[in-house]
Amino acid sequence: MQTQTKTMKESVNEKWNKRPLIISGPCSAETEEQVMETATRLANTGKVDMLRAGIWKPRTKPGLFEGIGVKGLAWLDKAKKLTGLPITVEVATAKHVEDSLQFDVDVLWIGARTTVNPFSVQAVADALRGVDIPVLIKNPVHPDLDLWCGAIERLQKVGVEKIGMIHRGFSNYGNMEYRNAPMWHLPIEMKRRFPGMLLICDPSHICGNRTMLQAVAQKSIDLDFDGLMIESHIDPDRAWSDAKQQITPERLGEMLDELKWRSENTDAKEFITALATLREQINHIDDELLTLIGQRMKIADKIGTYKKENNITILQTNRWNDILERAFKKGEHLGLSKEFITKYYDAVHLESINHQNKIMND
Ligand code: PEP
Ligand code: MN
Repeated sequence: MQTQTKTMKESVNEKWNKRPLIISGPCSAETEEQVMETATRLANTGKVDMLRAGIWKPRTKPGLFEGIGVKGLAWLDKAKKLTGLPITVEVATAKHVEDSLQFDVDVLWIGARTTVNPFSVQAVADALRGVDIPVLIKNPVHPDLDLWCGAIERLQKVGVEKIGMIHRGFSNYGNMEYRNAPMWHLPIEMKRRFPGMLLICDPSHICGNRTMLQAVAQKSIDLDFDGLMIESHIDPDRAWSDAKQQITPERLGEMLDELKWRSENTDAKEFITALATLREQINHIDDELLTLIGQRMKIADKIGTYKKENNITILQTNRWNDILERAFKKGEHLGLSKEFITKYYDAVHLESINHQNKIMND
């Protein structure tokens, strides 16, 4: 037993550092047969590093399947012994941590509905003091990076050494393209704040359906993510939770084959020189853009002075509409999306208003 546990720990450490790191398994453990068959079929693909399964499911509304509970941990342990795949489960309370450790779970993850709550994160962290186990932290349900950072810091403070991040998108109101909007700039910012920390993508909870999974997974690879967590089920349509987004282990295998894996760096001299030249050009254009925007604000200042002298409001809606219409037209020719033009002009307009506001009220 002693040697076996040790071997599994070594294997988990190896997998933790493997790129890409691939985690898959059902949204929820449902029955012993389902867990065993999923694990076997995932292992047969030869492309999966860890088996995931939800044991306690935080459901938005009561009455839905809330997880099989502790008995599912025994099934996972059995699946691990059969396939050699380390197992990972979601924990939200100190009791979940205690139960998971009892059943030798190899990696824990904190779900999006837990990351939002510092009390819960702290309770999980306190239960992990002095325990050597890797922990993955999903982003909070809404786009608040400080909460995500806070959860990481709480775990760091109790001495958890192996911490990783899972990007699963951010909830939005209404009927949107994604179940959870990816807002890619946010995980990119997390990469900047925690250089070198493992960051994997969970396309299943971003998409909420099967059709977009591959494209979202590819996008995360292109953005230099370290791996993927994708939900899989032996009979996806009949899954007890998240049925619409799960795929079979075999489909997962195909998808992993079809993805184009890329690396962040290369030694190829020609490529490095070409890239450096293009980046120089971009730096130069960025400098020019900033200079021009600075000049634009100086003109806005002058307008502000006139408006003040003539007692005219800063905002003139007609003028603002004209500016936007002109920009949309021009942008279309330049290959710039309406969405980008709107965001860019909103930012410039707001800065301009702030400048004029200062002049008006000085
Ligand atoms: C899950 O992984 O099944 C899950 C509940 O995800 P999230 O915390 O991202 O909603
Ligand atoms: Mn799920």
